[in-house]
Amino acid sequence: LLEGATLQAYGAKTIPEGGWFAMPRTAANGALVLGDAAGMVNVPKLKGIHYAIKAGILAGETVFQALLGEDTTVATLGRFHERVKESFIGRDLYATRYFKEYFHGGFIPGLVKSGISFFTGGSLPPGTGRLQPDYRGMESIADYYRGRPDAHPEKPAFDKKLTFDKLDDIYFSGTSHEEDQPSHLIVKDLDLCVNRCTEEYGNPCQHFCPASVYNIVTDEADGRRSLLVNAPNCVHCKTCDIKDPYRNIRWTVPEGGGGPNYRDL
Ligand code: SF4
Repeated sequence: LLEGATLQAYGAKTIPEGGWFAMPRTAANGALVLGDAAGMVNVPKLKGIHYAIKAGILAGETVFQALLGEDTTVATLGRFHERVKESFIGRDLYATRYFKEYFHGGFIPGLVKSGISFFTGGSLPPGTGRLQPDYRGMESIADYYRGRPDAHPEKPAFDKKLTFDKLDDIYFSGTSHEEDQPSHLIVKDLDLCVNRCTEEYGNPCQHFCPASVYNIVTDEADGRRSLLVNAPNCVHCKTCDIKDPYRNIRWTVPEGGGGPNYRDL
């Protein structure tokens, strides 16, 4: 299907896959949270745009009622959550509420459990509703090579026709930030990166970041290794905020509306 096509744009983003149990409060005084920001994603189907549209309609109705009653406090806007629960958004998310948890024990048990859940409409097998943070799924080097010392992680090859390297991706994301602003990515302990993390996890930030923001560099003069953070490259996918095994990276909001320039989105 893509034969002869040309790359037009690039983007990367994490998906809020916690489902029902990870949804935040959806109303505050003068504000509603909906769509992706409220975790309205059907994770088994990887779909959520129809939830965002429906939630937008429900939010519009809720705000309209609030404006008629001249009360936009959480007492009135809080009805939005009930409307969401009663709609197909709530029904779908409730039926798939344990999906993420089913996979905590591994891929195969997760597949079996989610299959049973699919055929029982979400009532079996039971879960606890407690979710693990995503970084716990990060495999250490020792675990990766355990029992297979000769394993070779695959290195991707890019043909620049259908697959592209990170520098091309950054260019096509159109991301830009004021160069002289303070870094919006704060690494709390830089020694941890070049010592413990290198040894235990092999600095995964270099690999999971889709925009080459994190690079371990070696000083030619004294051989010292350090972490170089190219914050202006960031495409705001939030992977580092979620996946860092030590919670050593803090993602803050950059200045002045910087970030990727997603056309047509
Ligand atoms: Fe994504 Fe973090 Fe890399 Fe920015 S720095 S592109 S948020 S992984």
